[in-house]
Amino acid sequence: MKKNNDRIAIYPGTFDPITDGHLDIIKRASKLFSSVIVSVATNMKKKPMFSTTERVKMIKESVQNIKNVSVDTFSGLSIDYCNKKNSYILIRGLRAISDFENEFQMALMNRKIDNNIETVFLMPSEEYTYLSSSLVKEIASLNGDISNFVSNYVNKKMKEKT
Ligand code: ADP
Repeated sequence: MKKNNDRIAIYPGTFDPITDGHLDIIKRASKLFSSVIVSVATNMKKKPMFSTTERVKMIKESVQNIKNVSVDTFSGLSIDYCNKKNSYILIRGLRAISDFENEFQMALMNRKIDNNIETVFLMPSEEYTYLSSSLVKEIASLNGDISNFVSNYVNKKMKEKT
């Protein structure tokens, strides 16, 4: 383990768009670590609804009142990005058993590539365990109300897209 007392945690993801579930994880991480960098993955195979710039803006809007949280983007492997930022902590959210297999595989693969990086799983409040960006997009595309799942700003941006 690296000798680094400044516990910078990286929370990587697609955030297309950021939901209240992501925000719950960010708040929990911000209490555990000295700083948290929420980082938007730009090299996505799946085509996101929102551009990188839009996704960053939505996250910034949501975290503006949390002092030790910043927002960034990255491409390539999250562990490489982690090293670049002098961090050895990767945050991931675990909603349900269904997340586990993928996340478990990814965490162990990352550990195999770089044993210095530790993946830390945080569980959201149970009301967010069924919430995902894709479900929010699906509901919005069918003219459903997503105001209980995303911020007002994200809700407004979603309405502009659908
Ligand atoms: P990715 O494509 O990297 O999975 P996401 O934006 O979908 O990007 O998710 C980023 C991280 O946030 C993942 O670890 C995911 O499990 C977690 N996450 C997504 N939605 C929620 C939620 N409602 N509650 C807790 N964690 C979540």
